[in-house]
Amino acid sequence: MRKKAIIIGGGLGGLATALTLSKQYEVHIFEKNASLGGKMKVIDIDGFHFDFGPNTLTMPHYFWRVIEPFCSNPKEKLPFRHIPNATHHQIGAHEVVFTIDEAEMKAQLRKMDEQSAENYPAFLMEIKRLFRLSEETFLRKTFFKKSDYLSLQLAGDLLKAHPFQTLHTFLETYFPHPEVQKLFERFATYIGSSPYATPATFAMIAYFELVEGTYYLPGGATKIAEVFTELLHQQNVHIHTTEAVEQLATDGEKIIGCQTTKGLYFADIFICNGDYDLFQPLLGRRVPYHELSTSGYVELIGLKQPVPLHHHNVWFSSNYKQEFTALRKGHYAPEPTVYSCYPYASDTSHPPALFVLINAPNATASDEQQSIHVTKALEKWGIPLEDIVLRKKLPPSYIEQNFSVRNGAIYGQASNSLKSSFMRPANRDKKYSNLYYVGGTVHPGGGSPIVVKGGYHVAKRILAEIK
Ligand SMILES: Cc1cc2nc3c(=O)[nH]c(=O)nc-3n(C[C@H](O)[C@H](O)[C@H](O)COP(=O)(O)OP(=O)(O)OC[C@H]3O[C@@H](n4cnc5c(N)ncnc54)[C@H](O)[C@@H]3O)c2cc1C
Repeated sequence: MRKKAIIIGGGLGGLATALTLSKQYEVHIFEKNASLGGKMKVIDIDGFHFDFGPNTLTMPHYFWRVIEPFCSNPKEKLPFRHIPNATHHQIGAHEVVFTIDEAEMKAQLRKMDEQSAENYPAFLMEIKRLFRLSEETFLRKTFFKKSDYLSLQLAGDLLKAHPFQTLHTFLETYFPHPEVQKLFERFATYIGSSPYATPATFAMIAYFELVEGTYYLPGGATKIAEVFTELLHQQNVHIHTTEAVEQLATDGEKIIGCQTTKGLYFADIFICNGDYDLFQPLLGRRVPYHELSTSGYVELIGLKQPVPLHHHNVWFSSNYKQEFTALRKGHYAPEPTVYSCYPYASDTSHPPALFVLINAPNATASDEQQSIHVTKALEKWGIPLEDIVLRKKLPPSYIEQNFSVRNGAIYGQASNSLKSSFMRPANRDKKYSNLYYVGGTVHPGGGSPIVVKGGYHVAKRILAEIK
């Protein structure tokens, strides 16, 4: 008889785990929402289509690898297309469009600062090295027990990855110009952290966009969740939507069952894909104390006609440092950086629309001012306000309530210190040996490619170790 696995939460990490386990296990997914995908969620309003959550898509091969065993042509199933000039940055009086073309990047940086342009190739070399090191020592590894953390090899590799320098000071060594520094400091927000506190190791995030490139999927990023769901059905995975797990039944050092809103289920192994902190009380534990990552204030904007924007657009705050100081104190920035995603620039299959995001504190700070900042940014981007036919505001409480996220903190624990960066919650519970964790709030961290990779490796290790 096949062993049984229960996955709690249908986010991307849980789906990757479920699919990989489905080869040998009878898998059940319990998701409190009506559809799978978690933060990757379709929102259709008045004829406009929006992809909530992941908009910047990178590392297609991480997704292909997970679906490969279950379809004949993963590249056709998820036909990622490269966006050559993906992200337009407006920074002071300067404009920089990120591209994987090194000469083009140098030419753009040269207009800001000669020395920064000269140092760009060395920066690229270093982020390539950091990425390779991180893949080998961290991203590909799962952490099940203490000895997984305590290896000499891991400690040695970590020391080679600038753990004691902040991202900001690391960037200063390559780019003397403060506005060039900011361009690359923004990568810290991909893990909901501050570039002035997060270890320089995370400069490797820049590798995704500047070396491998940025992609889109025709029809929308949410195609990823759609394809995973289709393959899970094909694998006969039992999908229980609108069914939340409320309690766990334990016997000594094992979880034996879970009580959902609809019934009691038993299994051999349990995998939590929901927010790690909020899951702990189900085990009779206190919610852990640690600094949380940032949240997001989002506006979904439907447009009467196309606008002259790139697929991704960033309007930088004039005082980036102040933005992170405010966020870490639980306030919005007085003058925030505004990001917008305009998929119509690459794919005209849906009417023109914008997903706008402002970094938000992971607390209940008032967000009334934020729509004023969004309006200002829209004006600066040259979008006539009379062309806006739909405007939906989604504050951090939307993230908190819809995806059961502690304080709306998108990435769980913040990576604003050495310890919090490299000692994220492990992939196996410290007491219950058949309870595992996947997703953005645990090792190796958040972002759609990383949670998919993490879920895949946890499932592979379970398949290898538990016969
Ligand atoms: C506004 C925003 C913008 C983002 N932008 C990007 C981007 O551009 N690029 C990128 O790569 N990533 C981006 N991300 C991050 C990315 O979305 C996440 O890191 C990733 O999708 C998280 O996946 P996960 O596996 O952790 O699961 P989650 O998406 O967190 O899903 C967990 C699921 O578990 C369910 N759940 C929780 N508790 C229970 C329970 N007790 N019972 C049943 N179900 C439960 C929840 O309802 C949820 O559906 C963004 C996220 C947000 C919110």
